[in-house]
Amino acid sequence: MKKAIITLLIIVGICLLVPFLLVKVFLDRIEIPVKEPEPVAVPEPAEVEKVEKVPQKVKCPDCGGEGCIQYTKTENCAMCKGNKLVKSGMKGSNTMYPCPKCGGSGVKKKTAWKTCPKCGGKGYIERFSR
Ligand SMILES: [Zn+2]
Ligand SMILES: [Zn+2]
Repeated sequence: MKKAIITLLIIVGICLLVPFLLVKVFLDRIEIPVKEPEPVAVPEPAEVEKVEKVPQKVKCPDCGGEGCIQYTKTENCAMCKGNKLVKSGMKGSNTMYPCPKCGGSGVKKKTAWKTCPKCGGKGYIERFSR
């Protein structure tokens, strides 16, 4: 009987030891994965032109880079409404005399600015260099 008890103890011991060893070996084998830092994605600039021919901005020759051009606007004279002649202010008089406001030309010239039609107001034009 004594031998049987010892054997039983050994078996129990092995039964306890084997799983312990297995777990230990298992834990040793586990390599904790080291997280490598992910490469930071550099965002590509959206404005990068992928065309070979890049338009060059050239100062608009028409407006000199101003974006607007001066021109002479011709309007009908406000006083004579283009008739060149106005009636005399005297009551009952039908005498016509040259409009004093426009000097008898019937038109009024005035300097005005308008958006440069060549560059569209940008002041520069785009030219493709070769
Ligand atoms: Zn007039
Ligand atoms: Zn222009």
